[in-house]
Amino acid sequence: MSIFSSLNPSLKTLPVYQPGRPIEEVARELGLPAADIIKLASNENPLGPSPLALAAMQNALAHINLYPDGNAFYLKQKLAEKLGVEPKNLILGTGSNEIIEFIGHALMKPGAEVIVSQFCFAVYPIVTHLFGANLITVPARSYGHDLRAMQAAITPQTRVVFVANPNNPTGTLARFEDVLRFINEVPEGVLLVMDEAYVDFLEEPLDLLPMVREDKKPNLILMRTFSKIYGLAGLRIGYGIGHPELIAALEKIRQPFNLNSLAQAGALAALDDAEHLRATRLNNKTGLKFFEHAFQEMNLETVPSAANFILVRVGDGQRVFNELQRRGVIVRPMGGYQLPEWVRISIGTTQENFRCLAALKQVLHL
Ligand SMILES: *Cc1c(COP(=O)(O)O)cnc(C)c1O
Repeated sequence: MSIFSSLNPSLKTLPVYQPGRPIEEVARELGLPAADIIKLASNENPLGPSPLALAAMQNALAHINLYPDGNAFYLKQKLAEKLGVEPKNLILGTGSNEIIEFIGHALMKPGAEVIVSQFCFAVYPIVTHLFGANLITVPARSYGHDLRAMQAAITPQTRVVFVANPNNPTGTLARFEDVLRFINEVPEGVLLVMDEAYVDFLEEPLDLLPMVREDKKPNLILMRTFSKIYGLAGLRIGYGIGHPELIAALEKIRQPFNLNSLAQAGALAALDDAEHLRATRLNNKTGLKFFEHAFQEMNLETVPSAANFILVRVGDGQRVFNELQRRGVIVRPMGGYQLPEWVRISIGTTQENFRCLAALKQVLHL
């Protein structure tokens, strides 16, 4: 009997996550200098990392011989203060992706159901399948979550519901009233995961923290990340905010030193960098308007975005992705999300946005 017949049976059909293509990889493949390539494919911060975070990490480098603080005391303390919660409401992960995996370990197994929306973040289905749970995909409404239909899809077997708001890859935003009603209607035995990776880009943030503060909702967890507006995607750091008892359970799953020292130091300093956040928000707002306006003029369909990227219907998304890549512009094809006619473009700097648009016009002969 070979080792392969003993593997977790889910691995046989589990899809591999397709990340945005790294600049260096595309440079090697096309024989182009890396400096000539721009990446607008993973919703990263085009202004770079927070300068305060960089300086803090430089300092932390000198102590890299020591294990990190496994409980990330200072970072939790500072985050808790900023959010108006207690450190015991917080769990940190190597990206919020790791929080999703903790949730899988805690609640998913064969027979359990996990509810997501059509066009959801790709990691939810992957983790669900990995743990052998059943994925229930609820049809989207105007490319966004149909929360009423998701509510109706809950059965006695349902253990987890994932809602990203704003959603990735569509950028859609569910209305605050609808989210509040949904939170209140989800049965106590179902964990509702509100993924707030893009919440910092909203002009009027939907503040769900009061529901966590009162410790009244043990079946609600919010997820946030330093990968997007804070510009620290390469550090891998995200967190969950929830009821202390739920957090305590997830803490048992966490590896003792999952958050390395540089990540802790960088994130801690980034929390103080209000100026970087302000500049990033402004750049994003301007860039989003630029693309919306241009696509309207080009008669290309878009989905109204509340995040730092825009989904645009270009015909053959894979062809457009390939052709843009040959011109040194990396975007994200959407075939894996059942949106083969679309590409997703992350908002870049003004210069990057111009270059992307010019290349797209060439490729579409517009
Ligand atoms: C980018 C993103 C995340 C964050 O992932 P990290 O692991 O923190 O880098 C989480 N959820 C959604 C919907 C995202 O788009």
